[in-house]
Amino acid sequence: MNLISNHLPTDELQAIDAAHHMHPFTANAELAKKGALVVTAADGPMLTDSTGRKILDAMAGLWCVNIGYGRDELADAAYRQMKELPYYNTFFQTTHVPAIALAQKMAELAPHDLNHIFYANGGSDANDTNIRLARHYWAAKGKPSKKVIIARKNGYHGSTMGGASLGGMTAMHAQGGLPIPDICHIDQPYWWGEGGDQSPEEFGLERARQLEAKIHELGEDKIAAFIAEPVQGAGGVIIPPSTYWPEIQRICDAHDILLIADEVITGFGRTGNMWGAETFGIRADIMTIAKGMSSGYAPIGGSMVSDDVAATIDMDDFNHGYTYSGHPVSCAVAMENLRIIEEENIVGHVRDIAAPYLKQKWEAFSDHPLVGEARICGMMGALAMTPDKSSRAAFAADKGTIGTIGRDRAFANGLVMRHVGDQMIISPPLILTEKDIDLLINLATKTLDETYAIAKDKGLMKAAS
Ligand SMILES: *Cc1c(COP(=O)(O)O)cnc(C)c1O
Repeated sequence: MNLISNHLPTDELQAIDAAHHMHPFTANAELAKKGALVVTAADGPMLTDSTGRKILDAMAGLWCVNIGYGRDELADAAYRQMKELPYYNTFFQTTHVPAIALAQKMAELAPHDLNHIFYANGGSDANDTNIRLARHYWAAKGKPSKKVIIARKNGYHGSTMGGASLGGMTAMHAQGGLPIPDICHIDQPYWWGEGGDQSPEEFGLERARQLEAKIHELGEDKIAAFIAEPVQGAGGVIIPPSTYWPEIQRICDAHDILLIADEVITGFGRTGNMWGAETFGIRADIMTIAKGMSSGYAPIGGSMVSDDVAATIDMDDFNHGYTYSGHPVSCAVAMENLRIIEEENIVGHVRDIAAPYLKQKWEAFSDHPLVGEARICGMMGALAMTPDKSSRAAFAADKGTIGTIGRDRAFANGLVMRHVGDQMIISPPLILTEKDIDLLINLATKTLDETYAIAKDKGLMKAAS
Protein backbone atom coordinates (compact mmCIF):
# COMPACT_ATOMS: atom_id res chain seq x y z
CA MET A 1 0.00 0.00 0.00
CA ASN A 2 1.36 3.40 -0.90
CA LEU A 3 0.41 6.69 0.72
CA ILE A 4 -2.20 7.48 -1.90
CA SER A 5 -4.21 4.26 -1.76
CA ASN A 6 -3.72 3.85 2.01
CA HIS A 7 -5.06 7.32 2.56
CA LEU A 8 -5.98 9.60 5.44
CA PRO A 9 -9.53 9.96 6.80
CA THR A 10 -11.89 11.99 4.58
CA ASP A 11 -12.05 15.13 6.71
CA GLU A 12 -8.24 15.34 6.82
CA LEU A 13 -8.00 14.86 3.04
CA GLN A 14 -10.59 17.60 2.57
CA ALA A 15 -8.70 19.96 4.86
CA ILE A 16 -5.42 19.44 2.97
CA ASP A 17 -7.25 19.77 -0.34
CA ALA A 18 -8.79 23.05 0.79
CA ALA A 19 -5.43 24.35 2.03
CA HIS A 20 -3.42 23.61 -1.11
CA HIS A 21 -5.52 22.65 -4.12
CA MET A 22 -7.14 25.34 -6.31
CA HIS A 23 -10.01 23.63 -8.15
CA PRO A 24 -10.95 24.64 -11.70
CA PHE A 25 -14.31 26.41 -12.25
CA THR A 26 -14.88 26.52 -8.46
CA ALA A 27 -15.40 29.16 -5.79
CA ASN A 28 -12.67 27.60 -3.68
CA ALA A 29 -13.39 29.51 -0.47
CA GLU A 30 -16.97 28.26 -0.53
CA LEU A 31 -15.96 24.67 -1.33
CA ALA A 32 -13.47 24.73 1.56
CA LYS A 33 -16.37 25.15 4.01
CA LYS A 34 -18.10 21.92 3.03
CA GLY A 35 -15.21 19.88 1.62
CA ALA A 36 -14.88 18.29 -1.82
CA LEU A 37 -16.18 14.82 -2.61
CA VAL A 38 -13.09 12.59 -2.56
CA VAL A 39 -13.31 9.90 -5.23
CA THR A 40 -10.98 7.00 -4.57
CA ALA A 41 -11.84 4.26 -7.07
CA ALA A 42 -14.19 3.38 -9.90
CA ASP A 43 -15.42 0.44 -11.93
CA GLY A 44 -17.73 0.37 -14.95
CA PRO A 45 -20.05 3.38 -14.48
CA MET A 46 -19.72 3.43 -10.66
CA LEU A 47 -17.49 5.63 -8.51
CA THR A 48 -16.44 4.85 -4.95
CA ASP A 49 -15.82 7.76 -2.58
CA SER A 50 -13.47 7.91 0.40
CA THR A 51 -16.25 6.77 2.74
CA GLY A 52 -16.90 3.66 0.64
CA ARG A 53 -20.15 4.97 -0.86
CA LYS A 54 -21.03 3.94 -4.46
CA ILE A 55 -22.10 6.69 -6.88
CA LEU A 56 -23.40 6.32 -10.44
CA ASP A 57 -21.34 8.60 -12.67
CA ALA A 58 -23.86 9.91 -15.18
CA MET A 59 -21.27 12.42 -16.47
CA ALA A 60 -18.55 9.88 -17.39
CA GLY A 61 -16.06 12.02 -15.46
CA LEU A 62 -16.12 15.16 -17.61
CA TRP A 63 -17.88 13.67 -20.66
CA CYS A 64 -14.88 11.46 -21.31
CA VAL A 65 -14.86 8.00 -19.71
CA ASN A 66 -16.79 6.52 -22.62
CA ILE A 67 -15.77 2.87 -22.15
CA GLY A 68 -16.28 3.09 -18.36
CA TYR A 69 -13.79 2.75 -15.53
CA GLY A 70 -11.63 -0.20 -14.59
CA ARG A 71 -10.41 -1.45 -17.97
CA ASP A 72 -7.07 -3.05 -17.11
CA GLU A 73 -6.12 -3.31 -20.80
CA LEU A 74 -5.51 0.45 -20.86
CA ALA A 75 -3.41 0.31 -17.71
CA ASP A 76 -1.38 -2.52 -19.24
CA ALA A 77 -0.89 -0.56 -22.48
CA ALA A 78 0.38 2.44 -20.49
CA TYR A 79 2.70 0.24 -18.41
CA ARG A 80 4.17 -1.50 -21.45
CA GLN A 81 4.71 1.78 -23.28
CA MET A 82 6.27 3.49 -20.27
CA LYS A 83 8.77 0.66 -19.94
CA GLU A 84 9.61 0.62 -23.64
CA LEU A 85 9.71 4.32 -24.48
CA PRO A 86 8.17 6.65 -21.88
CA TYR A 87 8.77 9.79 -23.88
CA TYR A 88 10.16 11.11 -27.05
CA ASN A 89 9.34 14.25 -29.00
CA THR A 90 8.16 14.72 -32.54
CA PHE A 91 9.54 18.23 -33.17
CA PHE A 92 12.94 17.78 -34.71
CA GLN A 93 12.52 15.36 -37.59
CA THR A 94 11.82 12.46 -35.22
CA THR A 95 8.80 10.31 -34.55
CA HIS A 96 7.86 7.15 -32.65
CA VAL A 97 5.71 4.08 -33.17
CA PRO A 98 2.69 4.96 -30.97
CA ALA A 99 2.28 8.38 -32.67
CA ILE A 100 2.51 6.74 -36.09
CA ALA A 101 0.07 3.96 -35.25
CA LEU A 102 -2.51 6.32 -33.76
CA ALA A 103 -2.23 8.78 -36.67
CA GLN A 104 -3.00 5.97 -39.10
CA LYS A 105 -5.88 4.71 -36.95
CA MET A 106 -7.41 8.19 -36.62
CA ALA A 107 -7.15 8.80 -40.37
CA GLU A 108 -9.07 5.55 -40.88
CA LEU A 109 -11.75 6.43 -38.34
CA ALA A 110 -12.24 10.12 -39.10
CA PRO A 111 -14.84 11.11 -41.71
CA HIS A 112 -14.07 11.79 -45.41
CA ASP A 113 -10.62 13.29 -46.02
CA LEU A 114 -9.68 14.28 -42.46
CA ASN A 115 -6.56 12.17 -42.90
CA HIS A 116 -4.00 14.13 -40.88
CA ILE A 117 -3.59 14.66 -37.15
CA PHE A 118 -1.83 17.40 -35.22
CA TYR A 119 -1.53 16.14 -31.65
CA ALA A 120 -2.44 18.12 -28.53
CA ASN A 121 -2.94 17.22 -24.87
CA GLY A 122 -6.65 17.93 -24.73
CA GLY A 123 -9.41 19.90 -26.40
CA SER A 124 -8.45 23.43 -25.34
CA ASP A 125 -4.95 23.38 -26.75
CA ALA A 126 -6.21 21.55 -29.86
CA ASN A 127 -8.53 24.51 -30.46
CA ASP A 128 -5.62 26.90 -29.95
CA THR A 129 -3.87 24.90 -32.66
CA ASN A 130 -6.98 25.30 -34.84
CA ILE A 131 -6.83 29.10 -34.60
CA ARG A 132 -3.26 28.99 -35.84
CA LEU A 133 -4.02 26.38 -38.49
CA ALA A 134 -6.95 28.35 -39.90
CA ARG A 135 -5.13 31.70 -39.98
CA HIS A 136 -1.88 30.25 -41.30
CA TYR A 137 -3.81 28.30 -43.95
CA TRP A 138 -5.22 31.51 -45.43
CA ALA A 139 -1.91 33.35 -45.11
CA ALA A 140 -0.20 30.52 -46.98
CA LYS A 141 -2.89 30.83 -49.68
CA GLY A 142 -2.02 34.49 -50.11
CA LYS A 143 -5.07 35.76 -48.17
CA PRO A 144 -3.58 36.96 -44.87
CA SER A 145 -6.57 39.24 -44.20
CA LYS A 146 -8.74 36.17 -43.55
CA LYS A 147 -8.21 36.03 -39.78
CA VAL A 148 -11.58 36.29 -38.06
CA ILE A 149 -13.06 33.16 -36.55
CA ILE A 150 -16.80 33.16 -36.01
CA ALA A 151 -18.02 31.11 -33.05
CA ARG A 152 -21.19 31.02 -30.96
CA LYS A 153 -22.49 32.44 -27.71
CA ASN A 154 -22.69 29.74 -25.05
CA GLY A 155 -20.39 27.48 -27.04
CA TYR A 156 -17.55 25.74 -25.21
CA HIS A 157 -14.15 25.21 -26.77
CA GLY A 158 -11.92 24.93 -23.72
CA SER A 159 -10.24 27.15 -21.20
CA THR A 160 -6.91 28.30 -22.64
CA MET A 161 -6.82 31.91 -23.91
CA GLY A 162 -7.65 30.75 -27.42
CA GLY A 163 -10.14 28.06 -26.46
CA ALA A 164 -12.01 30.33 -24.06
CA SER A 165 -12.05 33.12 -26.65
CA LEU A 166 -13.66 30.79 -29.20
CA GLY A 167 -16.11 29.73 -26.52
CA GLY A 168 -19.02 32.03 -25.86
CA MET A 169 -19.15 31.81 -22.08
CA THR A 170 -19.65 35.32 -20.70
CA ALA A 171 -18.44 34.34 -17.22
CA MET A 172 -15.15 33.19 -18.74
CA HIS A 173 -14.76 36.28 -20.94
CA ALA A 174 -15.31 38.45 -17.86
CA GLN A 175 -11.99 37.30 -16.36
CA GLY A 176 -8.58 37.92 -17.93
CA GLY A 177 -9.33 40.13 -20.91
CA LEU A 178 -11.08 37.78 -23.33
CA PRO A 179 -11.80 37.23 -26.13
CA ILE A 180 -8.49 37.70 -27.96
CA PRO A 181 -8.78 39.81 -31.15
CA ASP A 182 -10.52 38.67 -34.34
CA ILE A 183 -12.98 36.29 -32.78
CA CYS A 184 -16.70 37.06 -32.79
CA HIS A 185 -19.85 35.25 -31.73
CA ILE A 186 -23.30 34.67 -33.18
CA ASP A 187 -26.36 33.35 -31.32
CA GLN A 188 -26.81 29.70 -30.43
CA PRO A 189 -29.52 27.41 -31.90
CA TYR A 190 -31.24 26.87 -28.55
CA TRP A 191 -34.90 26.58 -29.50
CA TRP A 192 -36.52 25.83 -26.12
CA GLY A 193 -34.70 28.69 -24.43
CA GLU A 194 -34.69 31.32 -27.17
CA GLY A 195 -37.02 30.18 -29.95
CA GLY A 196 -40.14 32.04 -28.79
CA ASP A 197 -43.15 31.39 -31.05
CA GLN A 198 -41.13 30.10 -33.99
CA SER A 199 -41.14 26.44 -34.96
CA PRO A 200 -37.84 24.69 -34.25
CA GLU A 201 -37.24 24.43 -38.01
CA GLU A 202 -37.76 28.15 -38.69
CA PHE A 203 -35.65 29.04 -35.69
CA GLY A 204 -32.82 26.70 -36.75
CA LEU A 205 -32.67 28.36 -40.18
CA GLU A 206 -32.76 31.83 -38.69
CA ARG A 207 -29.90 31.12 -36.30
CA ALA A 208 -27.80 29.49 -39.05
CA ARG A 209 -28.36 32.53 -41.29
CA GLN A 210 -26.77 34.74 -38.65
CA LEU A 211 -23.53 33.20 -39.88
CA GLU A 212 -24.18 34.45 -43.40
CA ALA A 213 -25.18 37.88 -42.09
CA LYS A 214 -21.94 38.07 -40.09
CA ILE A 215 -19.90 37.08 -43.16
CA HIS A 216 -21.58 39.85 -45.16
CA GLU A 217 -21.12 42.35 -42.35
CA LEU A 218 -17.38 41.75 -41.93
CA GLY A 219 -16.61 40.75 -45.51
CA GLU A 220 -15.70 37.28 -46.75
CA ASP A 221 -12.11 38.45 -47.22
CA LYS A 222 -11.82 38.86 -43.43
CA ILE A 223 -13.20 35.48 -42.31
CA ALA A 224 -10.99 32.45 -41.73
CA ALA A 225 -13.38 29.95 -40.20
CA PHE A 226 -16.54 29.10 -38.33
CA ILE A 227 -16.27 26.81 -35.30
CA ALA A 228 -19.08 24.96 -33.52
CA GLU A 229 -19.87 21.85 -31.54
CA PRO A 230 -22.33 19.54 -33.37
CA VAL A 231 -24.26 19.45 -30.07
CA GLN A 232 -23.28 22.06 -27.47
CA GLY A 233 -22.13 20.11 -24.42
CA ALA A 234 -21.06 22.35 -21.56
CA GLY A 235 -23.58 24.97 -22.72
CA GLY A 236 -26.35 22.60 -21.63
CA VAL A 237 -26.67 19.77 -24.18
CA ILE A 238 -28.21 22.02 -26.80
CA ILE A 239 -29.34 19.91 -29.74
CA PRO A 240 -29.84 22.08 -32.81
CA PRO A 241 -33.05 21.91 -34.85
CA SER A 242 -32.80 19.61 -37.91
CA THR A 243 -32.56 22.61 -40.26
CA TYR A 244 -29.52 24.13 -38.57
CA TRP A 245 -26.50 22.12 -39.71
CA PRO A 246 -27.48 21.72 -43.38
CA GLU A 247 -27.83 25.52 -43.60
CA ILE A 248 -24.50 26.09 -41.80
CA GLN A 249 -22.85 23.68 -44.23
CA ARG A 250 -24.40 25.47 -47.22
CA ILE A 251 -23.14 28.84 -45.94
CA CYS A 252 -19.60 27.58 -45.27
CA ASP A 253 -19.49 26.02 -48.75
CA ALA A 254 -20.90 29.10 -50.48
CA HIS A 255 -18.41 31.44 -48.85
CA ASP A 256 -14.73 30.74 -48.79
CA ILE A 257 -14.37 29.85 -45.09
CA LEU A 258 -13.20 26.80 -43.18
CA LEU A 259 -15.60 24.80 -41.02
CA ILE A 260 -14.18 23.56 -37.72
CA ALA A 261 -16.30 20.93 -35.96
CA ASP A 262 -15.43 20.64 -32.28
CA GLU A 263 -16.18 16.96 -31.68
CA VAL A 264 -14.43 16.77 -28.31
CA ILE A 265 -17.66 15.49 -26.73
CA THR A 266 -19.65 14.26 -29.74
CA GLY A 267 -16.80 12.15 -31.14
CA PHE A 268 -16.12 8.48 -30.40
CA GLY A 269 -19.73 7.30 -30.28
CA ARG A 270 -21.57 9.67 -27.98
CA THR A 271 -24.36 10.58 -30.42
CA GLY A 272 -24.90 7.01 -31.63
CA ASN A 273 -22.46 7.29 -34.54
CA MET A 274 -18.71 7.46 -34.33
CA TRP A 275 -18.93 11.21 -35.11
CA GLY A 276 -21.46 13.94 -34.56
CA ALA A 277 -20.62 14.79 -38.17
CA GLU A 278 -22.43 11.62 -39.24
CA THR A 279 -25.42 12.26 -36.99
CA PHE A 280 -25.86 15.82 -38.31
CA GLY A 281 -24.40 15.57 -41.82
CA ILE A 282 -21.40 17.86 -41.32
CA ARG A 283 -18.38 18.00 -43.61
CA ALA A 284 -15.65 19.85 -41.69
CA ASP A 285 -12.19 20.98 -42.79
CA ILE A 286 -10.82 20.59 -39.27
CA MET A 287 -12.20 18.48 -36.43
CA THR A 288 -11.21 18.86 -32.77
CA ILE A 289 -10.91 15.62 -30.80
CA ALA A 290 -10.02 14.80 -27.16
CA LYS A 291 -11.98 13.34 -24.20
CA GLY A 292 -13.34 10.01 -25.55
CA MET A 293 -10.16 9.54 -27.60
CA SER A 294 -8.55 7.86 -24.57
CA SER A 295 -11.77 7.58 -22.51
CA GLY A 296 -9.98 9.94 -20.13
CA TYR A 297 -7.41 7.33 -19.07
CA ALA A 298 -4.56 9.57 -20.30
CA PRO A 299 -4.56 13.15 -21.54
CA ILE A 300 -4.60 13.45 -25.32
CA GLY A 301 -6.35 15.48 -28.00
CA GLY A 302 -5.75 16.77 -31.45
CA SER A 303 -6.91 18.35 -34.66
CA MET A 304 -7.97 16.16 -37.56
CA VAL A 305 -7.10 18.08 -40.70
CA SER A 306 -8.33 17.70 -44.30
CA ASP A 307 -6.04 16.82 -47.21
CA ASP A 308 -6.31 20.37 -48.58
CA VAL A 309 -5.57 22.13 -45.28
CA ALA A 310 -2.71 19.74 -44.46
CA ALA A 311 -1.14 20.15 -47.90
CA THR A 312 -1.24 23.93 -47.55
CA ILE A 313 0.17 23.99 -44.01
CA ASP A 314 2.85 21.45 -44.95
CA MET A 315 4.37 23.76 -47.59
CA ASP A 316 6.22 25.69 -44.90
CA ASP A 317 7.43 25.52 -41.29
CA PHE A 318 4.41 25.47 -38.95
CA ASN A 319 5.85 27.25 -35.91
CA HIS A 320 3.75 25.52 -33.31
CA GLY A 321 3.73 22.41 -31.09
CA TYR A 322 3.55 21.07 -27.56
CA THR A 323 6.25 19.16 -25.66
CA TYR A 324 3.71 16.37 -25.21
CA SER A 325 2.22 16.43 -28.74
CA GLY A 326 1.72 12.74 -29.47
CA HIS A 327 2.97 11.58 -26.08
CA PRO A 328 3.79 7.88 -26.51
CA VAL A 329 1.99 6.72 -23.37
CA SER A 330 -1.17 8.67 -24.23
CA CYS A 331 -1.04 7.37 -27.82
CA ALA A 332 -0.70 3.77 -26.60
CA VAL A 333 -3.64 4.23 -24.23
CA ALA A 334 -5.75 5.83 -26.98
CA MET A 335 -4.95 2.94 -29.34
CA GLU A 336 -6.13 0.42 -26.75
CA ASN A 337 -9.28 2.48 -26.12
CA LEU A 338 -10.05 2.56 -29.85
CA ARG A 339 -9.45 -1.19 -30.10
CA ILE A 340 -12.05 -1.74 -27.37
CA ILE A 341 -14.53 0.66 -29.00
CA GLU A 342 -14.23 -1.22 -32.30
CA GLU A 343 -13.95 -4.81 -31.12
CA GLU A 344 -16.71 -4.49 -28.54
CA ASN A 345 -18.90 -2.54 -30.95
CA ILE A 346 -19.46 0.24 -28.41
CA VAL A 347 -20.95 2.54 -31.05
CA GLY A 348 -23.43 -0.15 -32.10
CA HIS A 349 -24.34 -0.70 -28.45
CA VAL A 350 -25.14 3.02 -28.11
CA ARG A 351 -27.09 3.17 -31.38
CA ASP A 352 -29.12 -0.03 -31.00
CA ILE A 353 -29.49 -0.59 -27.26
CA ALA A 354 -28.42 2.05 -24.76
CA ALA A 355 -29.48 5.28 -26.52
CA PRO A 356 -32.98 4.14 -27.61
CA TYR A 357 -33.69 2.75 -24.12
CA LEU A 358 -32.40 5.86 -22.38
CA LYS A 359 -34.27 8.17 -24.79
CA GLN A 360 -37.64 6.60 -24.09
CA LYS A 361 -37.17 6.91 -20.30
CA TRP A 362 -35.51 10.34 -20.41
CA GLU A 363 -38.17 11.95 -22.60
CA ALA A 364 -40.84 10.79 -20.13
CA PHE A 365 -39.37 13.34 -17.69
CA SER A 366 -41.12 16.03 -19.72
CA ASP A 367 -44.27 15.03 -17.78
CA HIS A 368 -42.60 16.00 -14.50
CA PRO A 369 -44.03 19.26 -13.07
CA LEU A 370 -40.54 20.79 -12.81
CA VAL A 371 -39.38 19.93 -16.34
CA GLY A 372 -40.04 22.15 -19.36
CA GLU A 373 -38.06 20.16 -21.89
CA ALA A 374 -36.38 16.74 -21.71
CA ARG A 375 -34.04 16.47 -24.69
CA ILE A 376 -31.52 13.82 -25.59
CA CYS A 377 -29.17 12.92 -28.42
CA GLY A 378 -27.47 9.54 -28.14
CA MET A 379 -25.92 9.46 -24.69
CA MET A 380 -26.13 13.15 -23.83
CA GLY A 381 -29.28 14.62 -22.31
CA ALA A 382 -30.68 17.67 -20.55
CA LEU A 383 -33.70 18.55 -18.42
CA ALA A 384 -34.62 22.22 -18.61
CA MET A 385 -36.36 23.09 -15.34
CA THR A 386 -38.99 25.83 -15.28
CA PRO A 387 -41.60 27.30 -12.94
CA ASP A 388 -44.05 27.49 -15.89
CA LYS A 389 -44.03 24.84 -18.60
CA SER A 390 -46.41 26.65 -20.94
CA SER A 391 -44.45 29.91 -21.17
CA ARG A 392 -41.02 28.20 -20.85
CA ALA A 393 -40.24 30.84 -18.22
CA ALA A 394 -36.99 31.16 -16.32
CA PHE A 395 -37.08 31.20 -12.51
CA ALA A 396 -37.30 34.53 -10.70
CA ALA A 397 -34.50 33.35 -8.39
CA ASP A 398 -30.87 33.86 -9.44
CA LYS A 399 -29.94 31.65 -12.37
CA GLY A 400 -28.63 28.31 -11.14
CA THR A 401 -30.43 28.38 -7.78
CA ILE A 402 -32.72 25.45 -8.64
CA GLY A 403 -29.95 23.76 -10.61
CA THR A 404 -27.65 23.81 -7.58
CA ILE A 405 -30.38 22.26 -5.45
CA GLY A 406 -30.76 19.56 -8.12
CA ARG A 407 -27.03 18.89 -8.26
CA ASP A 408 -26.79 18.63 -4.46
CA ARG A 409 -29.80 16.28 -4.29
CA ALA A 410 -28.26 14.11 -7.04
CA PHE A 411 -24.96 13.82 -5.12
CA ALA A 412 -26.89 12.98 -1.94
CA ASN A 413 -28.77 10.26 -3.84
CA GLY A 414 -25.59 8.66 -5.21
CA LEU A 415 -25.82 10.12 -8.71
CA VAL A 416 -23.45 12.49 -10.49
CA MET A 417 -25.58 14.78 -12.66
CA ARG A 418 -24.31 18.23 -13.49
CA HIS A 419 -26.30 21.45 -13.60
CA VAL A 420 -25.90 24.17 -16.21
CA GLY A 421 -27.87 27.09 -14.87
CA ASP A 422 -31.25 25.53 -14.09
CA GLN A 423 -30.83 22.56 -16.37
CA MET A 424 -29.75 19.12 -15.26
CA ILE A 425 -27.52 17.30 -17.71
CA ILE A 426 -26.10 13.82 -18.20
CA SER A 427 -23.43 12.32 -20.42
CA PRO A 428 -22.87 8.85 -18.99
CA PRO A 429 -20.38 6.17 -20.02
CA LEU A 430 -21.45 4.60 -23.31
CA ILE A 431 -21.32 1.08 -21.86
CA LEU A 432 -24.43 1.49 -19.67
CA THR A 433 -26.66 -1.59 -19.67
CA GLU A 434 -30.45 -1.38 -19.47
CA LYS A 435 -30.14 -2.18 -15.76
CA ASP A 436 -27.68 0.72 -15.27
CA ILE A 437 -30.10 3.00 -17.13
CA ASP A 438 -32.97 1.90 -14.86
CA LEU A 439 -30.82 2.88 -11.86
CA LEU A 440 -29.94 6.23 -13.45
CA ILE A 441 -33.61 6.98 -14.13
CA ASN A 442 -34.69 5.95 -10.61
CA LEU A 443 -32.06 8.16 -8.99
CA ALA A 444 -32.84 11.05 -11.34
CA THR A 445 -36.59 10.73 -10.57
CA LYS A 446 -35.91 10.84 -6.84
CA THR A 447 -33.62 13.84 -7.39
CA LEU A 448 -36.22 15.74 -9.44
CA ASP A 449 -39.02 14.98 -6.94
CA GLU A 450 -36.89 16.25 -4.05
CA THR A 451 -35.73 19.30 -5.98
CA TYR A 452 -39.36 20.15 -6.82
CA ALA A 453 -40.42 19.71 -3.17
CA ILE A 454 -37.59 21.97 -1.94
CA ALA A 455 -38.29 24.60 -4.63
CA LYS A 456 -41.99 24.71 -3.66
CA ASP A 457 -41.13 24.78 0.03
CA LYS A 458 -38.78 27.72 -0.38
CA GLY A 459 -41.20 29.62 -2.61
CA LEU A 460 -38.88 29.32 -5.61
CA MET A 461 -41.49 28.22 -8.18
CA LYS A 462 -41.91 31.83 -9.35
CA ALA A 463 -41.34 32.91 -12.91
CA ALA A 464 -39.00 35.75 -13.79
CA SER A 465 -40.99 38.70 -15.12
C1 LIG B 1 -14.06 19.76 -22.89
C2 LIG B 1 -14.12 20.46 -24.17
C3 LIG B 1 -13.02 21.16 -24.68
C4 LIG B 1 -11.76 21.34 -23.88
O1 LIG B 1 -11.07 20.17 -23.70
P1 LIG B 1 -9.95 20.08 -22.54
O2 LIG B 1 -9.42 18.70 -22.70
O3 LIG B 1 -10.64 20.35 -21.24
O4 LIG B 1 -8.91 21.10 -22.81
C5 LIG B 1 -13.11 21.72 -25.94
N1 LIG B 1 -14.23 21.60 -26.67
C6 LIG B 1 -15.32 20.95 -26.21
C7 LIG B 1 -16.51 20.84 -27.09
C8 LIG B 1 -15.31 20.38 -24.95
O5 LIG B 1 -16.40 19.78 -24.47
